[in-house]
Amino acid sequence: NRERSVMHLLEVKNLKKSFGNIEAVNDVSFTVPQGAITGLIGRNGAGKTTTIRMLMNIFLPDSGDILFQGASAGIEFQEKTGYLPEERGLYKKLKVLETIFFFAELKNKSKKQIEKRAIELLKKFDLFDRRNSKVEDLSKGNQQKLQFICTVIHEPDYLVLDEPFSGLDPINTNILKEMILEFKRQGKVIIFSTHLMEFAEKMCDHVVMIDKGKIVLSGSILDIKKRYSHRNISLVYDGDISFLKGDSMIESIEDYGNYTGIKVKEESDVQNVLSALISHKVNVRSFIANDISLHEIFISLVGADSENNEKKEN
Ligand code: ATP
Repeated sequence: NRERSVMHLLEVKNLKKSFGNIEAVNDVSFTVPQGAITGLIGRNGAGKTTTIRMLMNIFLPDSGDILFQGASAGIEFQEKTGYLPEERGLYKKLKVLETIFFFAELKNKSKKQIEKRAIELLKKFDLFDRRNSKVEDLSKGNQQKLQFICTVIHEPDYLVLDEPFSGLDPINTNILKEMILEFKRQGKVIIFSTHLMEFAEKMCDHVVMIDKGKIVLSGSILDIKKRYSHRNISLVYDGDISFLKGDSMIESIEDYGNYTGIKVKEESDVQNVLSALISHKVNVRSFIANDISLHEIFISLVGADSENNEKKEN
């Protein structure tokens, strides 16, 4: 089907993978669009890494298909992809610049071909001064930045990044985020896994939510938000809103600390919630009608206990 193969880079169909009794990936199907960032999101143990490993041909699925541009995915996808594995694998005794050359060579790129780019990337990540340090002398965050550079040094068309932000401080997180967005502007396709909803929400065009080995939701973020935001209010406030809890116009209230999600009943008007807040002298800092966060959608689909798990394992 030509039209579909143009639209999608990858089509994952009914993938299954078990380890003994554990159904790590259980009948997972989703598509990865061209020219976009796709987020594979879910809490720890959801099956993200196992799915990614099958995309990268590290694990063979027990059953199911992966199509690359409409045809059965073979070595071609791997060759065109920069893959950042979850388990970080760098040689501790090698120096930083040598490490980059080593990874480039694995992808048939000579030192000469990539040296300029390597220096550029090292500077961008504030690692240039460490270019002659041994990997083992770098902090964990710096090792991770180096591994990312090694992932992209051969200028792949596609990026598959397993939890790329884990272990990075806010400044480096931001540098990495900017770089991923820059790759998107260059037309590259990016797939990354994360358990951080806020990140997925801000960066991705398309999300695939996975829980306990199954897809709970997938599609474009805009479509998904449109679908779930009806009658929902995103509220940021100072004061006491406990009076709303028993109010007849309210269906549910979810307090997330930084903001509160309020769902009003079908027959209620969201504007009445705003008037009630004001008449109760609540200091409303932000009130957005018909808006919902990805986090709220996720919790509404997989249950509140997953939120606790997520926090515990963070
Ligand atoms: P995390 O964010 O914690 O890495 P994840 O979503 O990437 O989670 P997976 O690593 O894919 O999840 O794990 C899914 C399930 O499969 C888990 O229950 C895990 O323990 C199990 N699992 C994964 N790899 C193996 C393996 N090689 N052998 C046995 N069990 C495995």
